[in-house]
Amino acid sequence: SSSWLLEVRIMAYGDNQKLLLARDVTRLRQLEQMRRDFVANVSHELKTPLTVLQGYLEMMAMMPNIDGKQVQAMSDQTERMKSLVEQLLTLSKIEVGTQVDPSMRVGMSGLLLQLKEEASALSDGRHNITFEVDEELDIGGDELQIRSACANLIQNAIHYSPQGSSIRVRWFKYGDVARFEVDDSGDGIALEHIPRLTERFYRVDRARSRQTGGSGLGLAIVKHALSHHNSELEIHSKLGEGSTFGFSIPANLIASSKRERA
Ligand code: ADP
Repeated sequence: SSSWLLEVRIMAYGDNQKLLLARDVTRLRQLEQMRRDFVANVSHELKTPLTVLQGYLEMMAMMPNIDGKQVQAMSDQTERMKSLVEQLLTLSKIEVGTQVDPSMRVGMSGLLLQLKEEASALSDGRHNITFEVDEELDIGGDELQIRSACANLIQNAIHYSPQGSSIRVRWFKYGDVARFEVDDSGDGIALEHIPRLTERFYRVDRARSRQTGGSGLGLAIVKHALSHHNSELEIHSKLGEGSTFGFSIPANLIASSKRERA
């Protein structure tokens, strides 16, 4: 194509001078786009055969003279592959660096109510999960992205916390900003891993997260979703003591449902 892209930086240089750096990033951006398209296409193509496989496995499970355990193992692995493919698709959609439309309203109390139901289904009574939600605190942005961000943090808290432990989810006004926080008293994470958690496929304990069905893509999705809302993921954690994952939505994206109704 005939369009090209320059990355320009102006830097202070010496006392009174400025340095102008220009770099042609046309090819780089094209390659990034190709990689994203490729991942999106492959993921999309994998969905159909996986769904077919799953259908046959369900049929097999009902046949006599079949080892139920083996079929179940195949089903579980197919399910894992499907969720990996879903996450790859989500990531390739969210990775595109565009800001969201702040005039699109995300109804947080409804969204969090749904996530609460999903959380109790996933935990299946193994955790004591509480939600504290400011019902009047809405934001502007992309509903799917905010949902992915919140859902991933809640799912992780469930996956990496032992049976019987407590998980607290909070959505509240904090000074000028709106805050989402998930507290768990689970495994915790050693300091050296924390900066790398949002990298694609990065997992602290591969064996452990394979058990939980993790793909290592969840926090990469969270990071990109938040960056489109001028926000970033904050992680506080201590090995063996638990973790807090949170983010703040800046004041200019806050929409109070109370104010609008009045
Ligand atoms: P995964 O699909 O493996 O959960 P994520 O990107 O969501 O991938 O998380 C990356 C890694 O961060 C996980 O494999 C796990 O080691 C660690 N992690 C994430 N959330 C928590 C948590 N609440 N407590 C302890 N470890 C966590």
